[in-house]
Amino acid sequence: MKTRFKFPTQILFGEGVLDDLPAELAAMGAERPLLVTDQGLSRTPIPDQVKALLERAGLQVAVFSAVDPNPTDAQVDAGADSFRAHQADAVVALGGGSPMDAGKAIQLRIHHLEPLEAYDDLKGGDAKIVGPLPPLVAIPTTAGTGSEVSRSAVITVAAAGRKVVLFSPRMMPAVAICDPTLTYGLPARITAETGMDALSHNVEAYLSTGYHPMADGIAITAIGMVGAFLRRAVADGKDEQARREMLMASTMGAVAFQKGLGVIHSLAHPLSSVSGVSHGLANALMMPHALRFNAQAVPERVAAVGRALGAKDASPEGAAAAVEALLAKIGLTQRLTEVGVQDGQLAELVDKAMQDGCHGCNPRACAPADFEALFKAAW
Ligand SMILES: [Zn+2]
Repeated sequence: MKTRFKFPTQILFGEGVLDDLPAELAAMGAERPLLVTDQGLSRTPIPDQVKALLERAGLQVAVFSAVDPNPTDAQVDAGADSFRAHQADAVVALGGGSPMDAGKAIQLRIHHLEPLEAYDDLKGGDAKIVGPLPPLVAIPTTAGTGSEVSRSAVITVAAAGRKVVLFSPRMMPAVAICDPTLTYGLPARITAETGMDALSHNVEAYLSTGYHPMADGIAITAIGMVGAFLRRAVADGKDEQARREMLMASTMGAVAFQKGLGVIHSLAHPLSSVSGVSHGLANALMMPHALRFNAQAVPERVAAVGRALGAKDASPEGAAAAVEALLAKIGLTQRLTEVGVQDGQLAELVDKAMQDGCHGCNPRACAPADFEALFKAAW
């Protein structure tokens, strides 16, 4: 057996590491960063704080914040125009998954000028991503996506009406600055939903096929951290230990899912694109049912997920029950019809879940009838 491992990038972690941002940019030779953030975060003081921090260090900063929850190709191109107009020399991506993905795509766009679809990873577009890109520093303000340590970005191509996955090791942030204090102000609801995304990354990585004991070790440890600390972070946003452990578990999730994702994400993606359910909540809703489904293929691994979450029942069912108990404690619903999924959408959900690439490394093969049964179990 031969395999190649590459562990991701420089990670600065801890309360106050944001203060190191100017020095990190200086070490890259950057003097004119473009700060990429989104509309939601712009309603908080955080982008202005970061801008002021950079300006105090003598850097010339421009801000681009026209990024939606599902960033589009037009927004990416507008961001690249801002980069050029400012004569920027680095991107600082600040926020949740959306601005971090937009920042990666803007960084790509500076020297890659074909229509964005040409770089679609599903069509071999990664081979077209060449040469050094402008350096990117990623600063997460949620604990869920882990995009600060991943090499991909998901962008909606409006004309094609679909999402394109951009993937290249060159898109990996040069530095991830993970400062838990930036998550203290996150509302309980967003803390719960994004935290379940972090859990799903770790669970899917741990269960996915493929040989990656390093990713497995990271994933099962982070599952235990979410089990121990998500409740506390939701109950008290200023619980420093809980915020720190959740941000680390989120970063670990994206390191681990280099190994692969699975059926939960294939179920969740159409719930977002067809029914408008947030990504974290969609994962949360489907996770117990996916664990029961996968228990037939990898019962020991599913049982280990349950033990890591603190389940007293050491059977595979203990894992599904532990997730359901966690969902109840963090105040998330468990039924699709309660989050706006319509009866008439089932066929489209099944169709799109089947087309989704994530279940390719799920431990149990998924047929359309399986997706239908899984959606119905959560209906
Ligand atoms: Zn996810």
